[in-house]
Amino acid sequence: MKPEIVPAAQAALPDSRGINLYSADPSFAGLLGLYVGDDLRRHLAPHFDRLGALAGGDLDQLAATADRNPPELHHRTRTGENRQWIEKHPAYRRLEEVAFSEYGLAAMSHRGGVLGWPKPLPPAVKYAFSYLYVQAEFGVCCPLSMTDSLTRTLRKFGDPALVARYLPGLTEQDFDSLTQGAMFMTEQGAGSDVGGVVTRAVKDGGDWRLYGDKWFCSNADAGVAMVLARPDGAPAGTKGLALFLLPRVLPDGSANSYRSLRLKEKLGTRDMPSGEIVLEGARAYLVGDQGRGFVQMTDMINMSRLSNGMRAAGMMRRALTEALFIARHRVAFGKTLIELPLMRRQLLKIMLLAEAARSVMFHAAAELERSDAGDEAARRRIRVLTPLLKFRACRDARRATGDAMEVRGGCGYIEEWSDARLVRDAHLGSIWEGTSNIVALDVMRAIRREGALDALQPALEEMLPRDAFGETLRGPVGRAVAFAHDVAGKRDEIHSRQAATGLYYAVAAAVLASEGSRLAATGDARRLLLSALVLQHRLQPRDPLARASEDRFAEALLPETAVSHEQVNQLLKK
Ligand SMILES: Cc1cc2nc3c(=O)[nH]c(=O)nc-3n(C[C@H](O)[C@H](O)[C@H](O)COP(=O)(O)OP(=O)(O)OC[C@H]3O[C@@H](n4cnc5c(N)ncnc54)[C@H](O)[C@@H]3O)c2cc1C
Repeated sequence: MKPEIVPAAQAALPDSRGINLYSADPSFAGLLGLYVGDDLRRHLAPHFDRLGALAGGDLDQLAATADRNPPELHHRTRTGENRQWIEKHPAYRRLEEVAFSEYGLAAMSHRGGVLGWPKPLPPAVKYAFSYLYVQAEFGVCCPLSMTDSLTRTLRKFGDPALVARYLPGLTEQDFDSLTQGAMFMTEQGAGSDVGGVVTRAVKDGGDWRLYGDKWFCSNADAGVAMVLARPDGAPAGTKGLALFLLPRVLPDGSANSYRSLRLKEKLGTRDMPSGEIVLEGARAYLVGDQGRGFVQMTDMINMSRLSNGMRAAGMMRRALTEALFIARHRVAFGKTLIELPLMRRQLLKIMLLAEAARSVMFHAAAELERSDAGDEAARRRIRVLTPLLKFRACRDARRATGDAMEVRGGCGYIEEWSDARLVRDAHLGSIWEGTSNIVALDVMRAIRREGALDALQPALEEMLPRDAFGETLRGPVGRAVAFAHDVAGKRDEIHSRQAATGLYYAVAAAVLASEGSRLAATGDARRLLLSALVLQHRLQPRDPLARASEDRFAEALLPETAVSHEQVNQLLKK
Protein backbone atom coordinates (compact mmCIF):
# COMPACT_ATOMS: atom_id res chain seq x y z
CA MET A 1 0.00 0.00 0.00
CA LYS A 2 1.33 3.46 -0.92
CA PRO A 3 2.06 5.81 2.03
CA GLU A 4 -0.50 8.58 2.27
CA ILE A 5 0.91 11.97 1.28
CA VAL A 6 -0.82 15.06 2.68
CA PRO A 7 -1.78 17.29 -0.26
CA ALA A 8 0.31 20.48 -0.28
CA ALA A 9 -2.76 22.71 0.02
CA GLN A 10 -3.76 21.12 3.32
CA ALA A 11 -0.30 21.48 4.79
CA ALA A 12 0.16 24.99 3.41
CA LEU A 13 1.97 27.55 5.52
CA PRO A 14 0.24 30.84 6.17
CA ASP A 15 1.49 33.43 3.70
CA SER A 16 1.02 37.12 4.38
CA ARG A 17 2.05 38.23 0.88
CA GLY A 18 -0.32 40.85 -0.41
CA ILE A 19 -1.53 42.17 2.91
CA ASN A 20 -1.85 45.93 3.09
CA LEU A 21 0.84 47.00 5.56
CA TYR A 22 -1.05 50.22 6.27
CA SER A 23 -4.49 48.83 6.96
CA ALA A 24 -3.11 45.69 8.65
CA ASP A 25 -1.58 48.03 11.22
CA PRO A 26 -4.53 49.25 13.27
CA SER A 27 -2.65 51.97 15.16
CA PHE A 28 -1.30 53.76 12.10
CA ALA A 29 -4.32 55.82 11.08
CA GLY A 30 -5.08 56.83 14.68
CA LEU A 31 -1.52 58.03 15.24
CA LEU A 32 -1.60 60.07 12.04
CA GLY A 33 -4.66 61.72 13.53
CA LEU A 34 -2.52 62.91 16.45
CA TYR A 35 0.41 64.19 14.44
CA VAL A 36 -1.03 65.42 11.13
CA GLY A 37 -3.73 68.06 10.67
CA ASP A 38 -7.19 66.88 9.59
CA ASP A 39 -7.26 68.33 6.05
CA LEU A 40 -3.83 67.06 5.20
CA ARG A 41 -4.54 63.64 6.71
CA ARG A 42 -7.74 63.25 4.73
CA HIS A 43 -5.94 64.31 1.56
CA LEU A 44 -3.14 61.78 2.14
CA ALA A 45 -5.30 58.83 3.26
CA PRO A 46 -5.54 57.20 -0.21
CA HIS A 47 -1.78 57.60 -0.72
CA PHE A 48 -1.07 55.80 2.55
CA ASP A 49 -3.49 53.06 1.60
CA ARG A 50 -1.90 52.56 -1.82
CA LEU A 51 1.64 52.52 -0.43
CA GLY A 52 0.53 50.03 2.23
CA ALA A 53 -0.74 47.70 -0.51
CA LEU A 54 2.42 48.15 -2.58
CA ALA A 55 4.70 47.56 0.42
CA GLY A 56 2.99 44.30 1.34
CA GLY A 57 2.89 43.13 -2.29
CA ASP A 58 4.89 44.38 -5.31
CA LEU A 59 7.59 46.29 -3.43
CA ASP A 60 8.23 43.34 -1.16
CA GLN A 61 8.77 41.08 -4.15
CA LEU A 62 10.95 43.66 -5.91
CA ALA A 63 13.04 44.06 -2.74
CA ALA A 64 13.61 40.30 -2.59
CA THR A 65 14.67 40.24 -6.26
CA ALA A 66 16.93 43.28 -5.91
CA ASP A 67 18.52 41.73 -2.81
CA ARG A 68 19.42 38.60 -4.80
CA ASN A 69 20.89 40.68 -7.65
CA PRO A 70 23.44 43.13 -6.20
CA PRO A 71 24.82 45.98 -8.34
CA GLU A 72 27.91 45.52 -10.51
CA LEU A 73 30.70 48.01 -11.13
CA HIS A 74 31.87 48.27 -14.75
CA HIS A 75 35.07 50.03 -15.82
CA ARG A 76 35.01 49.81 -19.61
CA THR A 77 32.47 49.74 -22.39
CA ARG A 78 32.49 46.84 -24.84
CA THR A 79 34.07 49.13 -27.43
CA GLY A 80 37.04 49.81 -25.13
CA GLU A 81 36.06 53.23 -23.80
CA ASN A 82 37.31 53.74 -20.22
CA ARG A 83 34.10 54.75 -18.52
CA GLN A 84 32.74 53.66 -15.14
CA TRP A 85 29.16 52.88 -14.37
CA ILE A 86 27.23 50.86 -11.83
CA GLU A 87 24.69 48.44 -13.23
CA LYS A 88 21.65 48.04 -10.98
CA HIS A 89 18.97 45.45 -11.36
CA PRO A 90 15.67 46.67 -12.88
CA ALA A 91 13.93 45.66 -9.62
CA TYR A 92 16.10 48.16 -7.72
CA ARG A 93 15.36 50.81 -10.35
CA ARG A 94 11.64 50.28 -9.87
CA LEU A 95 12.02 50.54 -6.08
CA GLU A 96 13.84 53.86 -6.58
CA GLU A 97 11.16 55.07 -8.95
CA VAL A 98 8.34 54.45 -6.47
CA ALA A 99 10.22 56.21 -3.65
CA PHE A 100 11.71 59.20 -5.48
CA SER A 101 9.22 59.73 -8.29
CA GLU A 102 5.79 58.39 -7.39
CA TYR A 103 5.92 59.36 -3.72
CA GLY A 104 8.51 62.17 -3.86
CA LEU A 105 9.89 61.06 -0.49
CA ALA A 106 13.17 62.99 -0.93
CA ALA A 107 11.48 66.10 -2.32
CA MET A 108 8.42 66.48 -0.07
CA SER A 109 10.17 68.44 2.71
CA HIS A 110 11.67 70.95 0.29
CA ARG A 111 8.91 72.08 -2.04
CA GLY A 112 5.18 72.03 -2.57
CA GLY A 113 3.44 69.99 -5.23
CA VAL A 114 4.34 66.51 -3.96
CA LEU A 115 1.33 64.15 -3.73
CA GLY A 116 -0.88 67.02 -4.83
CA TRP A 117 -0.28 69.14 -1.71
CA PRO A 118 0.64 72.76 -2.47
CA LYS A 119 3.11 73.25 0.40
CA PRO A 120 6.14 71.28 1.62
CA LEU A 121 4.94 68.37 3.75
CA PRO A 122 5.79 68.29 7.49
CA PRO A 123 8.38 65.84 8.93
CA ALA A 124 5.65 63.63 10.48
CA VAL A 125 4.27 62.95 6.99
CA LYS A 126 7.68 62.27 5.48
CA TYR A 127 8.58 59.86 8.24
CA ALA A 128 5.17 58.18 8.16
CA PHE A 129 5.47 57.43 4.42
CA SER A 130 9.08 56.30 4.75
CA TYR A 131 8.14 54.16 7.76
CA LEU A 132 5.69 52.36 5.52
CA TYR A 133 8.04 52.11 2.54
CA VAL A 134 10.94 50.73 4.60
CA GLN A 135 8.75 47.83 5.71
CA ALA A 136 9.30 46.48 2.22
CA GLU A 137 12.68 47.92 1.22
CA PHE A 138 15.58 49.20 3.32
CA GLY A 139 18.36 49.65 0.72
CA VAL A 140 16.76 52.50 -1.23
CA CYS A 141 16.08 54.35 2.03
CA CYS A 142 19.80 55.23 2.25
CA PRO A 143 19.86 57.17 -1.08
CA LEU A 144 16.48 58.67 -0.15
CA SER A 145 17.70 59.93 3.19
CA MET A 146 21.03 61.09 1.72
CA THR A 147 19.26 63.09 -0.99
CA ASP A 148 16.78 64.61 1.45
CA SER A 149 19.37 65.50 4.10
CA LEU A 150 21.99 66.73 1.60
CA THR A 151 19.36 69.07 0.16
CA ARG A 152 18.57 70.40 3.60
CA THR A 153 22.24 70.99 4.48
CA LEU A 154 22.95 72.59 1.09
CA ARG A 155 19.96 74.93 1.45
CA LYS A 156 21.03 75.84 4.97
CA PHE A 157 24.69 76.57 4.35
CA GLY A 158 25.32 76.68 0.59
CA ASP A 159 26.04 79.75 -1.48
CA PRO A 160 22.75 80.83 -3.19
CA ALA A 161 24.20 80.28 -6.68
CA LEU A 162 25.23 76.73 -5.75
CA VAL A 163 21.82 76.04 -4.24
CA ALA A 164 20.10 77.41 -7.35
CA ARG A 165 22.19 75.13 -9.58
CA TYR A 166 21.52 71.87 -7.73
CA LEU A 167 18.20 72.28 -5.90
CA PRO A 168 15.93 71.64 -8.91
CA GLY A 169 17.61 68.28 -9.68
CA LEU A 170 17.67 67.19 -6.05
CA THR A 171 13.93 67.81 -5.62
CA GLU A 172 12.95 66.45 -9.05
CA GLN A 173 10.32 63.71 -9.32
CA ASP A 174 10.99 62.94 -12.97
CA PHE A 175 13.23 59.90 -12.54
CA ASP A 176 15.47 60.65 -15.53
CA SER A 177 16.21 64.24 -14.44
CA LEU A 178 16.62 63.46 -10.74
CA THR A 179 19.96 64.14 -8.96
CA GLN A 180 20.53 61.84 -6.00
CA GLY A 181 22.74 62.69 -3.02
CA ALA A 182 25.42 60.91 -0.98
CA MET A 183 27.86 61.55 1.86
CA PHE A 184 31.55 60.65 1.52
CA MET A 185 33.08 61.13 4.93
CA THR A 186 34.59 57.91 6.26
CA GLU A 187 38.21 56.99 5.49
CA GLN A 188 40.30 54.01 6.53
CA GLY A 189 41.81 56.04 9.36
CA ALA A 190 38.72 58.13 10.06
CA GLY A 191 35.44 56.45 10.93
CA SER A 192 34.11 57.26 14.38
CA ASP A 193 37.06 59.60 14.78
CA VAL A 194 36.19 61.93 11.90
CA GLY A 195 38.97 64.31 12.90
CA GLY A 196 41.37 61.82 11.30
CA VAL A 197 40.23 62.73 7.75
CA VAL A 198 43.29 63.22 5.52
CA THR A 199 41.60 63.91 2.16
CA ARG A 200 43.26 67.09 0.88
CA ALA A 201 41.46 70.12 -0.51
CA VAL A 202 43.58 72.30 -2.78
CA LYS A 203 42.41 75.71 -3.96
CA ASP A 204 42.19 75.95 -7.75
CA GLY A 205 41.00 79.36 -8.92
CA GLY A 206 37.50 79.84 -7.55
CA ASP A 207 36.97 76.10 -6.99
CA TRP A 208 38.72 73.37 -5.08
CA ARG A 209 40.29 70.07 -6.02
CA LEU A 210 40.06 67.04 -3.75
CA TYR A 211 42.67 64.26 -3.36
CA GLY A 212 42.04 61.27 -1.13
CA ASP A 213 40.52 57.87 -0.52
CA LYS A 214 36.98 57.54 0.81
CA TRP A 215 36.45 54.09 2.28
CA PHE A 216 32.65 53.80 2.58
CA CYS A 217 30.56 55.63 -0.06
CA SER A 218 26.95 54.48 -0.14
CA ASN A 219 24.90 55.41 -3.20
CA ALA A 220 28.31 55.49 -4.87
CA ASP A 221 27.06 56.78 -8.24
CA ALA A 222 25.00 59.64 -6.78
CA GLY A 223 24.90 62.86 -8.81
CA VAL A 224 26.31 64.91 -5.90
CA ALA A 225 27.96 64.08 -2.59
CA MET A 226 28.84 66.06 0.53
CA VAL A 227 32.52 65.45 1.26
CA LEU A 228 34.68 66.37 4.23
CA ALA A 229 38.26 67.32 3.34
CA ARG A 230 41.13 69.27 4.88
CA PRO A 231 42.35 72.37 3.05
CA ASP A 232 46.15 72.55 2.89
CA GLY A 233 47.47 74.32 5.97
CA ALA A 234 44.25 73.84 8.01
CA PRO A 235 44.61 72.62 11.63
CA ALA A 236 44.40 68.95 12.66
CA GLY A 237 41.17 67.39 13.99
CA THR A 238 37.59 68.25 13.09
CA LYS A 239 38.27 71.98 13.37
CA GLY A 240 40.38 71.90 10.21
CA LEU A 241 37.76 70.19 8.04
CA ALA A 242 35.83 71.95 5.30
CA LEU A 243 32.63 70.77 3.62
CA PHE A 244 32.43 70.39 -0.15
CA LEU A 245 29.78 69.52 -2.71
CA LEU A 246 31.22 67.03 -5.18
CA PRO A 247 29.36 66.65 -8.51
CA ARG A 248 29.71 63.43 -10.50
CA VAL A 249 29.42 65.30 -13.78
CA LEU A 250 30.92 68.80 -14.23
CA PRO A 251 28.91 71.68 -15.70
CA ASP A 252 30.58 71.14 -19.13
CA GLY A 253 29.26 67.55 -19.19
CA SER A 254 32.60 65.84 -18.51
CA ALA A 255 33.07 63.26 -15.75
CA ASN A 256 34.62 64.56 -12.54
CA SER A 257 38.03 63.18 -11.55
CA TYR A 258 37.13 60.38 -9.16
CA ARG A 259 36.71 56.62 -9.48
CA SER A 260 35.13 53.75 -7.62
CA LEU A 261 37.78 51.13 -6.97
CA ARG A 262 35.32 48.43 -5.94
CA LEU A 263 31.91 47.85 -4.38
CA LYS A 264 31.57 46.39 -0.89
CA GLU A 265 30.05 42.94 -0.47
CA LYS A 266 27.65 43.51 2.42
CA LEU A 267 25.53 41.54 4.88
CA GLY A 268 22.50 43.78 4.28
CA THR A 269 21.44 46.52 1.83
CA ARG A 270 22.88 44.22 -0.79
CA ASP A 271 20.98 45.94 -3.59
CA MET A 272 22.37 49.43 -2.88
CA PRO A 273 25.94 50.13 -4.05
CA SER A 274 28.46 51.13 -1.35
CA GLY A 275 31.83 51.84 -2.94
CA GLU A 276 35.41 52.75 -2.20
CA ILE A 277 36.18 55.98 -4.02
CA VAL A 278 39.50 57.58 -4.86
CA LEU A 279 39.45 61.34 -5.46
CA GLU A 280 42.05 62.29 -8.05
CA GLY A 281 41.88 66.07 -8.12
CA ALA A 282 38.08 66.03 -8.31
CA ARG A 283 36.54 69.47 -8.62
CA ALA A 284 34.33 70.44 -5.67
CA TYR A 285 32.51 73.50 -4.36
CA LEU A 286 32.98 74.81 -0.84
CA VAL A 287 29.77 74.73 1.23
CA GLY A 288 29.40 77.42 3.92
CA ASP A 289 32.34 78.53 6.08
CA GLN A 290 35.66 76.86 5.45
CA GLY A 291 36.39 76.49 9.18
CA ARG A 292 32.95 75.05 10.05
CA GLY A 293 32.85 72.07 7.73
CA PHE A 294 32.35 69.47 10.43
CA VAL A 295 29.76 71.50 12.32
CA GLN A 296 27.77 71.94 9.11
CA MET A 297 28.13 68.26 8.24
CA THR A 298 26.61 67.34 11.62
CA ASP A 299 23.34 68.80 10.32
CA MET A 300 23.32 66.18 7.55
CA ILE A 301 24.51 63.46 9.95
CA ASN A 302 21.74 64.26 12.44
CA MET A 303 19.03 64.15 9.77
CA SER A 304 20.41 60.87 8.60
CA ARG A 305 20.50 59.53 12.18
CA LEU A 306 16.86 60.47 12.67
CA SER A 307 16.02 58.72 9.44
CA ASN A 308 17.88 55.64 10.68
CA GLY A 309 15.78 55.60 13.84
CA MET A 310 12.61 55.87 11.74
CA ARG A 311 13.76 52.97 9.55
CA ALA A 312 14.45 50.82 12.62
CA ALA A 313 10.94 51.58 13.86
CA GLY A 314 9.48 50.61 10.46
CA MET A 315 11.42 47.38 10.26
CA MET A 316 10.27 46.42 13.74
CA ARG A 317 6.66 47.09 12.76
CA ARG A 318 7.04 44.87 9.68
CA ALA A 319 8.55 42.16 11.88
CA LEU A 320 5.63 42.50 14.31
CA THR A 321 2.96 42.48 11.59
CA GLU A 322 4.48 39.31 10.13
CA ALA A 323 4.80 37.66 13.55
CA LEU A 324 1.20 38.45 14.46
CA PHE A 325 0.01 37.15 11.10
CA ILE A 326 1.86 33.88 11.53
CA ALA A 327 0.73 33.53 15.13
CA ARG A 328 -2.91 33.98 14.14
CA HIS A 329 -2.79 31.45 11.29
CA ARG A 330 -0.21 28.80 12.07
CA VAL A 331 -1.53 25.87 14.06
CA ALA A 332 0.52 23.77 16.51
CA PHE A 333 -0.73 21.31 19.11
CA GLY A 334 -4.27 21.96 17.90
CA LYS A 335 -4.17 25.67 18.58
CA THR A 336 -3.18 28.79 16.71
CA LEU A 337 0.19 29.99 17.99
CA ILE A 338 -1.31 33.16 19.41
CA GLU A 339 -3.37 31.07 21.84
CA LEU A 340 -0.21 29.65 23.41
CA PRO A 341 0.77 31.59 26.58
CA LEU A 342 4.51 31.56 25.99
CA MET A 343 4.09 32.73 22.41
CA ARG A 344 1.82 35.56 23.55
CA ARG A 345 4.52 36.74 25.88
CA GLN A 346 7.11 36.76 23.08
CA LEU A 347 4.80 38.70 20.76
CA LEU A 348 4.17 41.28 23.43
CA LYS A 349 7.89 41.83 23.87
CA ILE A 350 8.31 42.50 20.14
CA MET A 351 5.32 44.84 20.24
CA LEU A 352 6.79 46.81 23.14
CA LEU A 353 9.99 47.57 21.18
CA ALA A 354 8.21 48.31 17.91
CA GLU A 355 5.54 50.61 19.31
CA ALA A 356 7.93 52.46 21.64
CA ALA A 357 10.10 53.29 18.63
CA ARG A 358 7.15 54.41 16.52
CA SER A 359 5.97 56.81 19.23
CA VAL A 360 9.41 58.30 19.79
CA MET A 361 9.71 58.67 16.00
CA PHE A 362 6.45 60.61 15.65
CA HIS A 363 7.27 62.71 18.69
CA ALA A 364 10.71 63.56 17.28
CA ALA A 365 9.11 64.53 13.95
CA ALA A 366 6.82 66.98 15.76
CA GLU A 367 9.77 68.44 17.67
CA LEU A 368 11.78 68.78 14.45
CA GLU A 369 8.97 70.79 12.90
CA ARG A 370 8.84 73.10 15.93
CA SER A 371 12.62 73.43 15.94
CA ASP A 372 12.72 74.33 12.24
CA ALA A 373 10.09 76.97 12.93
CA GLY A 374 12.52 78.63 15.36
CA ASP A 375 11.53 77.17 18.76
CA GLU A 376 14.82 77.10 20.73
CA ALA A 377 13.65 74.63 23.40
CA ALA A 378 12.47 72.26 20.65
CA ARG A 379 15.90 72.61 18.98
CA ARG A 380 17.55 71.38 22.16
CA ARG A 381 15.03 68.57 22.52
CA ILE A 382 15.48 67.31 18.96
CA ARG A 383 19.25 67.54 19.47
CA VAL A 384 18.97 64.79 22.12
CA LEU A 385 15.97 62.88 20.71
CA THR A 386 17.85 62.26 17.45
CA PRO A 387 20.77 60.24 18.87
CA LEU A 388 18.42 58.64 21.43
CA LEU A 389 16.21 57.20 18.69
CA LYS A 390 19.12 56.26 16.45
CA PHE A 391 20.91 54.48 19.31
CA ARG A 392 18.11 52.58 20.97
CA ALA A 393 15.66 51.87 18.14
CA CYS A 394 18.47 50.54 15.93
CA ARG A 395 19.61 48.23 18.70
CA ASP A 396 16.06 47.10 19.45
CA ALA A 397 15.50 46.40 15.75
CA ARG A 398 18.25 43.76 15.83
CA ARG A 399 16.39 41.95 18.59
CA ALA A 400 12.82 42.49 17.40
CA THR A 401 13.55 41.30 13.85
CA GLY A 402 15.46 38.29 15.19
CA ASP A 403 12.69 37.34 17.59
CA ALA A 404 10.04 37.77 14.88
CA MET A 405 12.08 35.53 12.57
CA GLU A 406 11.79 32.78 15.16
CA VAL A 407 7.99 33.11 15.24
CA ARG A 408 7.95 31.82 11.63
CA GLY A 409 9.98 28.84 12.74
CA GLY A 410 12.31 27.25 10.18
CA CYS A 411 10.86 29.25 7.28
CA GLY A 412 11.90 32.44 9.08
CA TYR A 413 15.50 31.49 8.36
CA ILE A 414 14.87 30.91 4.68
CA GLU A 415 15.60 33.74 2.26
CA GLU A 416 12.35 33.49 0.32
CA TRP A 417 10.55 35.07 3.29
CA SER A 418 11.13 38.65 4.42
CA ASP A 419 12.47 37.81 7.91
CA ALA A 420 16.10 37.04 7.03
CA ARG A 421 16.42 40.21 4.94
CA LEU A 422 14.97 42.27 7.80
CA VAL A 423 17.46 40.77 10.25
CA ARG A 424 20.41 41.43 7.93
CA ASP A 425 19.34 45.01 7.22
CA ALA A 426 18.52 45.75 10.86
CA HIS A 427 22.12 45.09 11.89
CA LEU A 428 23.38 47.90 9.68
CA GLY A 429 21.30 50.60 11.36
CA SER A 430 23.33 50.53 14.52
CA ILE A 431 26.70 50.62 12.71
CA TRP A 432 26.50 53.31 10.03
CA GLU A 433 26.02 56.97 10.81
CA GLY A 434 27.77 56.27 14.09
CA THR A 435 28.00 53.03 16.04
CA SER A 436 26.00 52.49 19.24
CA ASN A 437 28.87 53.63 21.49
CA ILE A 438 29.47 56.77 19.46
CA VAL A 439 25.79 57.71 19.34
CA ALA A 440 25.25 57.03 23.06
CA LEU A 441 28.24 59.30 23.77
CA ASP A 442 26.57 61.91 21.55
CA VAL A 443 23.42 61.72 23.72
CA MET A 444 25.62 62.60 26.69
CA ARG A 445 27.30 65.41 24.73
CA ALA A 446 23.91 66.92 23.86
CA ILE A 447 22.99 66.89 27.55
CA ARG A 448 26.30 68.33 28.73
CA ARG A 449 26.94 70.96 26.08
CA GLU A 450 23.48 72.04 25.04
CA GLY A 451 21.47 71.66 28.23
CA ALA A 452 19.14 69.33 26.32
CA LEU A 453 17.59 67.88 29.48
CA ASP A 454 16.58 71.31 30.74
CA ALA A 455 14.35 71.50 27.67
CA LEU A 456 13.32 67.83 27.61
CA GLN A 457 12.34 67.31 31.24
CA PRO A 458 9.47 69.86 31.38
CA ALA A 459 8.16 68.49 28.08
CA LEU A 460 8.12 64.95 29.51
CA GLU A 461 6.34 66.16 32.66
CA GLU A 462 3.78 67.91 30.50
CA MET A 463 3.03 64.70 28.60
CA LEU A 464 2.25 62.60 31.68
CA PRO A 465 -1.50 62.06 32.13
CA ARG A 466 -3.08 63.92 35.05
CA ASP A 467 -4.27 60.75 36.76
CA ALA A 468 -3.04 57.91 38.94
CA PHE A 469 -1.16 56.29 36.07
CA GLY A 470 0.58 59.57 35.28
CA GLU A 471 1.68 59.73 38.90
CA THR A 472 3.02 56.17 38.72
CA LEU A 473 5.12 57.17 35.72
CA ARG A 474 6.45 60.41 37.20
CA GLY A 475 8.99 58.80 39.57
CA PRO A 476 10.68 56.39 37.13
CA VAL A 477 10.73 59.00 34.34
CA GLY A 478 12.33 61.52 36.70
CA ARG A 479 14.85 58.93 37.82
CA ALA A 480 15.90 58.18 34.22
CA VAL A 481 16.36 61.91 33.54
CA ALA A 482 18.39 62.38 36.73
CA PHE A 483 20.63 59.40 35.92
CA ALA A 484 21.30 60.70 32.39
CA HIS A 485 22.09 64.14 33.84
CA ASP A 486 24.52 62.67 36.34
CA VAL A 487 26.28 60.41 33.82
CA ALA A 488 26.62 63.23 31.29
CA GLY A 489 27.82 65.76 33.87
CA LYS A 490 30.46 63.42 35.28
CA ARG A 491 31.59 62.32 31.78
CA ASP A 492 30.98 58.82 33.09
CA GLU A 493 31.52 57.21 29.66
CA ILE A 494 31.16 53.65 30.85
CA HIS A 495 27.49 54.24 31.79
CA SER A 496 26.56 56.26 28.69
CA ARG A 497 24.64 53.46 26.99
CA GLN A 498 22.80 52.54 30.17
CA ALA A 499 21.83 56.17 30.75
CA ALA A 500 20.77 56.71 27.12
CA THR A 501 18.70 53.52 27.24
CA GLY A 502 16.91 54.66 30.39
CA LEU A 503 16.24 58.09 28.93
CA TYR A 504 14.91 56.64 25.67
CA TYR A 505 12.41 54.43 27.47
CA ALA A 506 11.41 57.30 29.76
CA VAL A 507 10.62 59.35 26.64
CA ALA A 508 8.79 56.39 25.11
CA ALA A 509 6.69 55.81 28.25
CA ALA A 510 5.74 59.50 28.42
CA VAL A 511 4.88 59.78 24.71
CA LEU A 512 2.89 56.52 24.72
CA ALA A 513 0.97 57.68 27.79
CA SER A 514 0.22 61.03 26.21
CA GLU A 515 -0.91 59.42 22.94
CA GLY A 516 -2.90 56.86 24.90
CA SER A 517 -4.74 59.52 26.87
CA ARG A 518 -5.62 61.45 23.72
CA LEU A 519 -6.66 58.35 21.80
CA ALA A 520 -8.76 57.21 24.75
CA ALA A 521 -11.13 60.02 23.81
CA THR A 522 -11.70 58.20 20.50
CA GLY A 523 -12.38 54.94 22.35
CA ASP A 524 -8.93 53.32 22.14
CA ALA A 525 -6.55 53.47 25.08
CA ARG A 526 -4.17 50.69 24.00
CA ARG A 527 -1.17 52.98 24.08
CA LEU A 528 -1.68 53.54 27.80
CA LEU A 529 -1.15 49.83 28.24
CA LEU A 530 1.95 49.96 26.06
CA SER A 531 3.25 52.75 28.27
CA ALA A 532 2.61 50.55 31.31
CA LEU A 533 4.55 47.73 29.63
CA VAL A 534 7.54 50.01 28.96
CA LEU A 535 7.40 51.08 32.59
CA GLN A 536 7.28 47.51 33.84
CA HIS A 537 9.94 46.08 31.52
CA ARG A 538 12.33 48.94 31.00
CA LEU A 539 12.11 51.45 33.82
CA GLN A 540 11.22 49.60 37.00
CA PRO A 541 13.47 47.24 38.95
CA ARG A 542 12.55 43.61 38.28
CA ASP A 543 13.13 40.45 40.21
CA PRO A 544 14.43 37.92 37.64
CA LEU A 545 12.73 35.12 39.61
CA ALA A 546 9.35 36.80 40.00
CA ARG A 547 6.39 35.83 37.78
CA ALA A 548 5.69 38.41 35.09
CA SER A 549 2.23 39.86 34.97
CA GLU A 550 1.92 40.66 31.28
CA ASP A 551 -0.66 38.01 30.48
CA ARG A 552 -3.51 40.34 31.09
CA PHE A 553 -1.88 42.91 28.79
CA ALA A 554 -1.47 40.30 26.06
CA GLU A 555 -5.21 39.61 26.13
CA ALA A 556 -5.85 43.28 25.49
CA LEU A 557 -3.02 44.23 23.14
CA LEU A 558 -2.43 41.28 20.82
CA PRO A 559 -5.80 41.28 19.07
CA GLU A 560 -4.84 44.85 18.05
CA THR A 561 -8.40 46.02 18.49
CA ALA A 562 -9.54 49.06 20.45
CA VAL A 563 -9.47 48.82 24.24
CA SER A 564 -11.57 51.26 26.24
CA HIS A 565 -10.31 53.53 28.96
CA GLU A 566 -12.37 51.60 31.55
CA GLN A 567 -10.80 48.29 30.51
CA VAL A 568 -7.36 49.86 30.71
CA ASN A 569 -8.05 51.17 34.20
CA GLN A 570 -9.21 47.73 35.25
CA LEU A 571 -6.08 46.11 33.85
CA LEU A 572 -3.76 48.66 35.43
CA LYS A 573 -5.41 48.18 38.81
CA LYS A 574 -4.99 44.41 38.79
C1 LIG B 1 27.29 49.34 4.63
C2 LIG B 1 27.95 50.59 5.10
C3 LIG B 1 27.75 51.75 4.41
C4 LIG B 1 28.35 52.94 4.81
N1 LIG B 1 28.15 54.07 4.09
C5 LIG B 1 28.83 55.21 4.41
C6 LIG B 1 28.69 56.38 3.61
O1 LIG B 1 27.92 56.43 2.67
N2 LIG B 1 29.42 57.46 3.94
C7 LIG B 1 30.29 57.47 4.99
O2 LIG B 1 30.93 58.49 5.23
N3 LIG B 1 30.43 56.37 5.77
C8 LIG B 1 29.72 55.25 5.51
N4 LIG B 1 29.86 54.11 6.30
C9 LIG B 1 30.84 54.11 7.37
C10 LIG B 1 30.28 54.06 8.76
O3 LIG B 1 29.64 55.26 9.10
C11 LIG B 1 31.46 53.73 9.69
O4 LIG B 1 31.84 52.40 9.39
C12 LIG B 1 31.10 53.85 11.16
O5 LIG B 1 30.90 55.21 11.48
C13 LIG B 1 32.19 53.29 12.06
O6 LIG B 1 33.45 53.71 11.70
P1 LIG B 1 34.63 52.64 11.50
O7 LIG B 1 34.16 51.60 10.56
O8 LIG B 1 35.89 53.35 11.16
O9 LIG B 1 34.80 51.96 12.91
P2 LIG B 1 35.72 52.47 14.11
O10 LIG B 1 35.58 53.94 14.24
O11 LIG B 1 37.08 51.91 13.94
O12 LIG B 1 35.02 51.79 15.35
C14 LIG B 1 35.31 50.45 15.77
C15 LIG B 1 34.64 50.20 17.12
O13 LIG B 1 35.19 51.10 18.08
C16 LIG B 1 34.16 51.71 18.80
N5 LIG B 1 34.59 53.04 19.25
C17 LIG B 1 35.18 54.03 18.52
N6 LIG B 1 35.36 55.12 19.29
C18 LIG B 1 34.88 54.81 20.52
C19 LIG B 1 34.78 55.52 21.76
N7 LIG B 1 35.18 56.78 21.88
N8 LIG B 1 34.28 54.87 22.83
C20 LIG B 1 33.83 53.60 22.73
N9 LIG B 1 33.89 52.89 21.60
C21 LIG B 1 34.41 53.49 20.49
C22 LIG B 1 32.99 51.79 17.84
O14 LIG B 1 31.76 51.91 18.53
C23 LIG B 1 33.14 50.48 17.10
O15 LIG B 1 32.46 49.47 17.80
C24 LIG B 1 29.21 52.92 5.94
C25 LIG B 1 29.40 51.75 6.66
C26 LIG B 1 28.77 50.60 6.25
C27 LIG B 1 29.00 49.33 7.03
